[in-house]
Amino acid sequence: MINFVFKNRYLTLGEGFYEKCKPTPVAQPGLIIFNNELAAELGVDASSLDEAMLAGVFSGNVIHESCEPLAMAYAGHQFGGFNPQLGDGRAIYLGEIDLDDGGSLDVQLKGSGPTRYSRNGDGRAALGPVLREYLLSEAMHKMDVPTTRALAAVTTGEEVPREKLSPGGIITRVASSFIRVGSFEYFARQGDDLSVKKLADYVIERNYPEVIEAQNPYLALFEVVVLGQAKLIAKWMQLGFIHGVMNTDNMSIAGETIDYGPCAFMDFYNHKQVYSSIDRQGRYAYDNQANIGVWNLSRLAECLLILFSDDPDEAVKLAQDVLQNYINSYADEWLSGFRAKCGLTAAEGITPQDDKVLLELLLDTMAESRADFTLTFYYLSQLDADSSDKDTNLRHLFTKPETIDVWLVKWRERLSMESLSNEVRQTNMQSVNPVYIPRNHQIEAVIRAAEDRNDFAPFHALHAVLQNPFQYQEDKDHYMQPPEPQEVVQQTFCGT
Ligand code: AMP
Ligand code: MG
Repeated sequence: MINFVFKNRYLTLGEGFYEKCKPTPVAQPGLIIFNNELAAELGVDASSLDEAMLAGVFSGNVIHESCEPLAMAYAGHQFGGFNPQLGDGRAIYLGEIDLDDGGSLDVQLKGSGPTRYSRNGDGRAALGPVLREYLLSEAMHKMDVPTTRALAAVTTGEEVPREKLSPGGIITRVASSFIRVGSFEYFARQGDDLSVKKLADYVIERNYPEVIEAQNPYLALFEVVVLGQAKLIAKWMQLGFIHGVMNTDNMSIAGETIDYGPCAFMDFYNHKQVYSSIDRQGRYAYDNQANIGVWNLSRLAECLLILFSDDPDEAVKLAQDVLQNYINSYADEWLSGFRAKCGLTAAEGITPQDDKVLLELLLDTMAESRADFTLTFYYLSQLDADSSDKDTNLRHLFTKPETIDVWLVKWRERLSMESLSNEVRQTNMQSVNPVYIPRNHQIEAVIRAAEDRNDFAPFHALHAVLQNPFQYQEDKDHYMQPPEPQEVVQQTFCGT
């Protein structure tokens, strides 16, 4: 048996917070992939474990003796409208595993059967979304973006009715916390102040023990959560990532990317890009993500006001100041991240506004020419400051190459204020500009092979490339390429 030792502090919060609930066994679990690297971080030595045993554990068919599984209660604003009752409808929380560094991580199965919160859903997941989440979340981790991680994926040997009958899958996710903004909303909307406080105390103890020392620990908690989101969303922007369903129930209190539903990385740059089939108004479009961040965090503030101060006016004022910090922190993170992508530092004599104008001009130029987001920055990372000899690859991405020539002149002028050699700057730039991202059309091909032909080789091949996203890999140029016109994925789906 796998040597997990689960503990479950969440259980001690009391019954209003969850329903104890076991995974529903599946017919024929089969292991697709097990993440040895993450398992080692969790203190699991997987070398002696066989596939059938792992498939049993990560399908929920076999429950570890130290595990008391449960489904968490939460609410959430979905596309701006409040839903008082969401909760883990197809996920089951297994518990918490201690790490060597004193922290701990939470483990959850997704697709493991119905719970009290399933409403009309079947509690299951189709194989396609499981493979998608595995690839995307692990790629995000390798690109240094805070995220839930994937420990295992299994097939179930059962079919789930979606648009058609699809093979079923289960993913095991690992997170610093599965508490969401919507977890606080669940209690706040019921006027249950005591439970809001209990949840805040639990989050502080689990994730942010440093704020206990602060003069106003709950305000300090709000501050760290806000800062985490500003950093996270700035990172998404720097990779062309569109979450797609930034509902408050999908915003983690731990500042990690969570819920890989209709999310996608952009190929051709477009400020307003939307992939999700249900986002008809563009609420969660690429360039609206930072605004939605502050909207969601305002909903969190509303839940926590009672903890900030006994004086309601004072509490609102304190919250507003922190939300203003979000706007400033996001702007700083955006600028420093995009500067790094272009090999720029905060040079003397240059204002943030000067660089913002230059960087936005690059994005506008990309949009006008439908240039590929990832390749633009990757090829830019190869250019010299003092010569245009190597510009060809980059120019080829632009339908109007003369427009990027104009920008490159400005960029080279700006680079003359930097002191690094070409070589050092290029290395720095290549450490933040990935060569490979999980492109939609490639994920689609992986899913088609697995679902239609039971062929997992494309999944493993793409996963292997994405283990080293910043490293050029011989014979893998195919994975760098944007889609051919017939391969373009126009829409993504929640995939439940
Ligand atoms: P999501 O949009 O994926 O974040 O899910 C929103 C809510 O719907 C959550 O409460 C989920 O647990 C629930 N849900 C989504 N898919 C299913 C399903 N197949 N069965 C039961 N509940 C589901
Ligand atoms: Mg969700």
